[in-house]
Amino acid sequence: MNFNPTFYQLRDQFPLFREKGDIAYLDNAASTQKPEAVIQRMAEFARYEYANVHRGLHDLSERATAAYEAARKCAARYIAAEQPESIVFTSGTTAAINLLANSWGEQNVQEGDTVLITELEHHSNLLPWMQLARRKKATLAYVPVDPVSQTLNMERARELIKKKPRLFAFAHVSNTLGSIQPVEELCALARKEGVITVVDAAQSAGHMPVNVSAMGCDFLAFSSHKMCGPTGIGILYGHYELLLKMPPWQYGGEMVDRVQFDGATFSDPPARFEAGTPPIIEAVGLHAAMDFLDSIGRENIAQHSAALAEEAAEGLRKIKGLRIFGPASGRADLVTFEVEGIHAHDLVFFLNSHGIALRAGHHCAQPLMRKLGAPSSSRASFYLYNTHQEVERLLEAVREAITFFRS
Ligand code: PLP
Repeated sequence: MNFNPTFYQLRDQFPLFREKGDIAYLDNAASTQKPEAVIQRMAEFARYEYANVHRGLHDLSERATAAYEAARKCAARYIAAEQPESIVFTSGTTAAINLLANSWGEQNVQEGDTVLITELEHHSNLLPWMQLARRKKATLAYVPVDPVSQTLNMERARELIKKKPRLFAFAHVSNTLGSIQPVEELCALARKEGVITVVDAAQSAGHMPVNVSAMGCDFLAFSSHKMCGPTGIGILYGHYELLLKMPPWQYGGEMVDRVQFDGATFSDPPARFEAGTPPIIEAVGLHAAMDFLDSIGRENIAQHSAALAEEAAEGLRKIKGLRIFGPASGRADLVTFEVEGIHAHDLVFFLNSHGIALRAGHHCAQPLMRKLGAPSSSRASFYLYNTHQEVERLLEAVREAITFFRS
């Protein structure tokens, strides 16, 4: 196993782990813990540097604006976007995808068109497209997941992309299967047919290198809270020429150019898509989180977390009556499983009583989990502060739960 001992020292930088005992927090796909660097930076900004951004003529507002825009520049560097103006701050991945469906989608999807997604999408990358397709009398098509290999059926993906859907939206890393989709290949196939691509990077942006230029995608979305940053902020990346053609979706202050009683003109992106007072303190926190992750190295984080997930998967596979979801190899950093005869909620309650935090349920991917015959399952998801000992604790507690519930 490829464990990196220096990672265990990082744990101390998280107040929760340093001060509140030895909780095994294995619910990182839902949200991640916050390091001191992020908490302190947000507190310092809120205490001494805070003001509203963009409209102020006083020093505090100018400095706050500079900090907000520095976060945008940092985000652009973080995903290798061509320019900071390609970065739109939203409240998270869900909001970013809804923005796309309601702005780009309203403008570009017509009756009879097809919007293509995959069967492994989180509801956030499914429902906005389903609703758009309904409104427009368009078709929502799905690249199937092979029930045996539990990876995308690439042959079907090629066929469906060849039919030239208006748009193809898919997750970089599946939040249920832990599979890593071949983003570059999928985007290249789509580009060849003139299909616009949207990558849902909610489970990858904080966990592995994400480079929009190398991926070749048109849009990409992610959430700060899944990468050591605060809640309430996320990012929509878009090719600037595409953003420039998109109409606003939400209206209000900050996004207008000139307003008259009988009409208005709107700002250029990204301001056009940031109506109202934005999440300023959160942007500063996200900036600190990106710096924190890059000081460790996303390649290192990916290796560490995937090694833990693989160790957990290996251990779980040895337990009789337990089924693991996801691909046989190339798993990212999570393991979803079900134990025969024990409801996932009961199992996760039991684990909680042992100080181990997991998620149970459908993981916001109901159609996929129904297709795989497991409407409810348990998910252990790992991150940079998790340890080999926590994997052992998890395995031991699952074995104990089985004895407990079956006796
Ligand atoms: N997409 C994926 C793959 C996710 O795992 C999640 C959250 O779990 C989301 C989208 C939605 O993210 P948020 O709730 O931060 O908007």
